[in-house]
Amino acid sequence: MTKKPILTLEQVKEIEKTYPTPFHIYDEKAIRENARALKDAFSWNKGYREYFAVKATPNPFILKILQEEGCGVDCSSLTELMLSEATDFTGSDIMFSSNVTPVEEYKKASELGAYINLDDYTHIDFLAENVGIPETIFCRYNPGGKFELGTDIMDNPGESKYGFTKEQMIDGYKKLMELGVKNFGIHAFLASNTVSNEYYPTLAGILFELAVELKEKTGANIKYINLSGGVGIPYTPDKEPNNIKIIGEGVRKKFEEILVPAGLGDIAIFTELGRFMLGPYGQLVTKCIHQKHIYREYIGVNTCACDVMRPAIYGAYHHITVLGKENEPCDHKYDVTGSLCENNDKFAVERMLPKIDIGDYLVIHDTGAHGYAMGYNYNGKLKSPELLLKEDGSIQMIRRGETARDYFSTFDFCDILKNMKYDD
Ligand SMILES: *Cc1c(COP(=O)(O)O)cnc(C)c1O
Repeated sequence: MTKKPILTLEQVKEIEKTYPTPFHIYDEKAIRENARALKDAFSWNKGYREYFAVKATPNPFILKILQEEGCGVDCSSLTELMLSEATDFTGSDIMFSSNVTPVEEYKKASELGAYINLDDYTHIDFLAENVGIPETIFCRYNPGGKFELGTDIMDNPGESKYGFTKEQMIDGYKKLMELGVKNFGIHAFLASNTVSNEYYPTLAGILFELAVELKEKTGANIKYINLSGGVGIPYTPDKEPNNIKIIGEGVRKKFEEILVPAGLGDIAIFTELGRFMLGPYGQLVTKCIHQKHIYREYIGVNTCACDVMRPAIYGAYHHITVLGKENEPCDHKYDVTGSLCENNDKFAVERMLPKIDIGDYLVIHDTGAHGYAMGYNYNGKLKSPELLLKEDGSIQMIRRGETARDYFSTFDFCDILKNMKYDD
């Protein structure tokens, strides 16, 4: 699939008069269309709801768009809960899927009336002692071993820190019932960024069978099954994107095969997608400011891993388009690098691209999820602003860029930097 920039060269030149590069850009129309396609794919399930994983793109303007499309939010920290509260998500709009959870975070989730999703058996006592047990609770399941689709090993739950074992699920449900729980949910996240229409249906099959077993062995009233995140996006242009309609139908088939005959046909399906909701609908726009010719050819851009970390930490591929040169041959081999004093700060390694000149704009694709959100301030680098291309074609700033004042603000308790001079 060809990767299309959200903005044309002309639009970027116009935007730069107000918001100089680098900036993150999000596409409102595409975000809404995708959210609607997801909702439609699961419309066969009466209680279906998507709880957007806030950590993927923690921006209140983005959360508002998804809220208008009917989504709730999935949080796993205090600040994510605060952000959700401030953007008017309440009670059952919020799923709290955390791990290694501090007391204050459970307290906040409980205060908001969020669905609490326990990551561990020992958290039953922890929650009971510190906060109290709610009427509805979720438990996160980890089947151990390897998670396979056909002959492909997708991920390794046996090595992952999350969830309850099968025995702990059974004991946990019994214990929670004694503590007054009336309604149960099951949650699992077994593989990340799956570009396969089989992941959700396979996961659903595992969780639906578990639900039947749990009901038989504990008598628990299971109302929700949360398939969590993990439906991925193709970062490379040679891959086909997932077909959410086929995925929804695949889950429906398992539902009808396993849950309906067991008398569990009223179970509501939840999802907690992050990457699938936002990944392709955000891009980082940057400019070539240096070229360097040593043992390789280097293109130096005016951003760095502080805006998008995935290439640096995972060696992840992010497609790059040189604006205005979309149709030129990719006959030059470049490393596209940022300015950190770290040699992993490369957006592309030995990538074939059109000939790049200083001043050319580069679009780094698929940064809408786990992009800005993962950014950091190493080398004292400041994160770029986030802009939204609205449905009417206008541009709205949805987060300003960081300033030096922001960077030094954690010293505001003392005078040691009192002579600091700021440009802003
Ligand atoms: C990260 C995460 C998600 C979202 O994952 P994606 O891969 O972005 O879909 C959902 N649920 C939990 C608990 C997570 O940690």
